[in-house]
Amino acid sequence: MVQRNTWQRERVREALADAGGFVSAQSLHATLRDENTGIGLATVYRALAGLAAQGDADSLQSPEGENLFRACATRGHHHHLICRSCGVAVEIEADAVEEWAQRTAAQHGFSEAEHVVDIFGVCASCAQARARERGDD
Ligand SMILES: [Zn+2]
Ligand SMILES: [Zn+2]
Ligand SMILES: [Zn+2]
Repeated sequence: MVQRNTWQRERVREALADAGGFVSAQSLHATLRDENTGIGLATVYRALAGLAAQGDADSLQSPEGENLFRACATRGHHHHLICRSCGVAVEIEADAVEEWAQRTAAQHGFSEAEHVVDIFGVCASCAQARARERGDD
């Protein structure tokens, strides 16, 4: 089958890699619009969904219910620390969580257990910027 819009998908993939942190389809679309690529929001959504389905992008929901995407360096199972202000993300391993999840699932007779654990907070540089805005310096 011929894949349509392949260059657009590649462009979305590049923009996602450039973004660094977790971004929404809207903000990625805004970046691409600034670069006059002519890629529509619906195409960005489709491309991101495709990348996530292939494991080329991580996707998660922000506490506000927004779908966010990131091109993570780690393809295997991992967790994230995410700044809710700027979207910067750190990939983390959490052995204690893996153990707890396995044990808890087994205790309740669950098999094939999966879990999603991400930590949202404010990164050090955003916290600093906020302090400056308040005039703490
Ligand atoms: Zn990730
Ligand atoms: Zn931040
Ligand atoms: Zn885990």
